Amino acid sequence: MASHNLAHIKIDDLEIIGYSVAGEETVVAMPQLDVCFDIGKAPDQVISINNVLLTHGHMDHAAGIAYYLSQRNFCGQSAGTILAPQNLLGPIREIIDAWGRLDGNQIPANIVGVKPGDEYQIKPNLFARVFPTKHSPGSVGYSVIEKRKKIKPEYARLTGPQIVELKKQHIEIDYPLELPIVTYLGDTQYVDFSQLKYIAESRILIAECTFYEDEHSGRAEAGRHIHIDEFATLLNKMQNEHIIITHTTQRTPMWEIRKILKETLPPEIYDRVILLMDKESRRS
Ligand SMILES: [Zn+2]
Ligand SMILES: [Zn+2]
Repeated sequence: MASHNLAHIKIDDLEIIGYSVAGEETVVAMPQLDVCFDIGKAPDQVISINNVLLTHGHMDHAAGIAYYLSQRNFCGQSAGTILAPQNLLGPIREIIDAWGRLDGNQIPANIVGVKPGDEYQIKPNLFARVFPTKHSPGSVGYSVIEKRKKIKPEYARLTGPQIVELKKQHIEIDYPLELPIVTYLGDTQYVDFSQLKYIAESRILIAECTFYEDEHSGRAEAGRHIHIDEFATLLNKMQNEHIIITHTTQRTPMWEIRKILKETLPPEIYDRVILLMDKESRRS
């Protein structure tokens, strides 16, 4: 039986499974892309995913690291890969070593330190690109980008043999094309993420919007999280087809969050929004 009851969203051919409540737990996985953004308390459903992309070290996002790695070992799977902000590598290694000593079994792990601007290859055509966020020292977000080669329009009508001939002459007949599939912001204060084109144009944006009530704007500021008023400003500048909201506060009931979102966002943006933890929102 599954350890967690996870939310489940399907967008075209992509599944998004996860759980995300501010201060409690955040884990958001996309099995077809083989990535899990943050690892909360390591639900069973994410153990077989090969890449964990950690945004920062807060307990509600990172507590599952050792369990994830250890369960993979226990089930005979290869060592999991954890991408994490470079400044967290030391403490992550220490905690895995400590668990290894506690458990009596060394835990195999592939830990990769990342910094803004880095790219990590997930599959032959799939890359995780790292960008900075404003939450805790070294905190980052990730975009998963598919890289393709597209034939230049002037060569589009050529036959197979003609293409072979051009290639023999070392003529570049195609150009690189980047398709940003998903961007995961993790925890962050408001930043104008639309300045990074691959974020603004990601097909799917998975974003925190923690606070909704007017009197909670101070809490957003103190905890370095996004308040709905700032979120509305951000979304106005973004072109994402689907926007998934995570990390909602427990201080405001879900029906009220839904109501405030509807009142605050223009209808054409509200229509693209799904609240991860809201069953009503996922159905529509
Ligand atoms: Zn958090
Ligand atoms: Zn945090």
